[in-house]
Amino acid sequence: MAAIFRNFRTARSSLRHIPRQLPPYAADRDLRRPYGSSFPLSEDRKQLESRLVSLLDGRHGLPRLKQVHAHLYRRGLDQCCYVLTKLVRALTELGVPVGSYQRLVFGQVQHPNPFLYTALIRGYSAQGPFRESIGLYASMREEGVGPVSFTFTALLKACGAALDLDLGRQVHAQTMLIGGFCSDLYVGNTLIGMYVSCGDLGSGRKVFDEMLHRDVISWTTLIVAYTKTGDMASAGDLFDGLPVKDMVAWTAMVTGFAQNAKPRDALQFFKRMQDARVETDEVTLSGVISACAQLGAAKYAQWVRDVAEKSGLGPTENVVVGSAMVDMYSKCGNIEDAYTIFKEMKERNVYTYSSMILGFAIHGLAQAAMQLFHEMVETETKPNKVTFIGVLVACSHGGMVDQGKEVFSSMEKRYGVVPDGDHYACMVDILGRAGHLNEALKLTETMPVKPHGGVWGALLGACRIHRNPDIAQIAASHLFELEPHAIGNYMVLCNIFALAGRWDDVSNVRKLMRGKGLKKNPGCSWFESKKGEIHEFFAGDTKHPRSSEINGVLVDLLERLKGHGYQQILSSVAYDVSENEKKRILMGHSEKLALAFGLMDSSANCPIRIMKNLRICEDCHSFMCGVSHIIGREIIVRDNMRFHHFKGGTCSCGNFW
Ligand code: ZN
Ligand code: ZN
Repeated sequence: MAAIFRNFRTARSSLRHIPRQLPPYAADRDLRRPYGSSFPLSEDRKQLESRLVSLLDGRHGLPRLKQVHAHLYRRGLDQCCYVLTKLVRALTELGVPVGSYQRLVFGQVQHPNPFLYTALIRGYSAQGPFRESIGLYASMREEGVGPVSFTFTALLKACGAALDLDLGRQVHAQTMLIGGFCSDLYVGNTLIGMYVSCGDLGSGRKVFDEMLHRDVISWTTLIVAYTKTGDMASAGDLFDGLPVKDMVAWTAMVTGFAQNAKPRDALQFFKRMQDARVETDEVTLSGVISACAQLGAAKYAQWVRDVAEKSGLGPTENVVVGSAMVDMYSKCGNIEDAYTIFKEMKERNVYTYSSMILGFAIHGLAQAAMQLFHEMVETETKPNKVTFIGVLVACSHGGMVDQGKEVFSSMEKRYGVVPDGDHYACMVDILGRAGHLNEALKLTETMPVKPHGGVWGALLGACRIHRNPDIAQIAASHLFELEPHAIGNYMVLCNIFALAGRWDDVSNVRKLMRGKGLKKNPGCSWFESKKGEIHEFFAGDTKHPRSSEINGVLVDLLERLKGHGYQQILSSVAYDVSENEKKRILMGHSEKLALAFGLMDSSANCPIRIMKNLRICEDCHSFMCGVSHIIGREIIVRDNMRFHHFKGGTCSCGNFW
């Protein structure tokens, strides 16, 4: 590395020997001459060169390129930079390592011109080692050969790929030192890209602001970079300033919002994109479909599907859109529609199968998930890591311990998929939920990879179901180290201690949380009204305009349920407060508020779909079971773990969640 910098300094000190303007070889007709030659070319020679260049195409394969190369030698063109540049490019396109054949070709040329140098530099910047391209640039300058704009774009790409900000800045300085390259549009765009890749958004923005001309690439490079850091406000400002907003810029915004957990903004932007009549492609659609899945909003899902179908990218035709829709419908609680799309798709790949298997699994349809997995294997679609997550989740939620063990042990042996931390987390979950807590602990302590938070989290969750505060303490101690700020772990431990009546331990955990400045994430549920509006409810919320009506419906439901023997489960409140206070807290849980509003707002007979950010508590679960029975309607609740389909007094999870 030091040598490169040394070369760089030498190159810099020799700058004064280099003409600031490009010599006339840059003109197209002169490219055909060997560098430095001043003899005019005969017509025959020109024709020969053109013919050879047309044959130098990577698509013809390596043997053909070698043939042309040999012919080129025989015809005395072994120093012709014009033809050799084309040869080097074709070899690189074919994936031949730059350091082998191309370097040899280059080495035999006495006076390589800037284009031949640049072809080699581009090769290194695409394949690596990236710093080799800087070394070549340094020797190019030492030889007194002036760069062209593509030399800089290649060098900057290499710096971006190597994440070498320092070197990138030096190349930036070179573009300014050598006449006018920094005002070149392509160089400017690549400079932005380099700074963005190296994480220096400020400098990227500065280059952007100082550019004389900008095109859509300059804007979108920056917009995408802001969206990636989650700074959607700045991305929005940039987007608004865009003179012409094309599909790429719109898509960057839509997917940016979706990936930054702002699904509503993603949908809003997509709506604006539709109003502006901008074309969509499968990337835009996948982004907006994932936003629908996050929101669990079925009405939007239908609208997006209509748009996709109108653009000829409907789920039946397009496997990417189709797979995303299968995933979305199942996450929106509509497993029937997910399966209908799945069946209608003309082509299915591993993502389609995996989405459907996971969909069945989180809806508690374990047998359907297993059956589809076997069908998939029969169609010779090779399962991947995600497929096995789906199958194992199915086993876990279905309480199928033996099948889970069988699948887990066959992963590597039969399908060549090495289990990673996530698969171990599923296996611990399977054992833990079924009550085999010691076996789950042993697996966690002896697994070949270091268990991540997900594995210990699965064990902690199982300890809550089976009320085992001792193993819970072991799991929690690891979790507090691995994820010191994940509030959920502290809450689960509080809950487990509260269920065991260990109030001193509860208050110790709370003290620990306060010490770290952690605040409980408020429970939040939401419901999509008939008009397609999303109504949000927080625990204990009285802000909704129809709050008193909601309260009235809940009081009424509670009375009717009591007549059927329902009793509030006070242990679901992890606070050491009076019984009456516990009863009041329980009635304010967000999913109950959403349910009451859902009953007021929906048409009779259609299922009520509620989404929740946290896990549903035992009391709300039993309340939902009871209400589904007395009103004779299906209630579907998506919590952060899975779907619960409450029907006729029972839940699809079999009280096992
Ligand atoms: Zn609750
Ligand atoms: Zn349930």
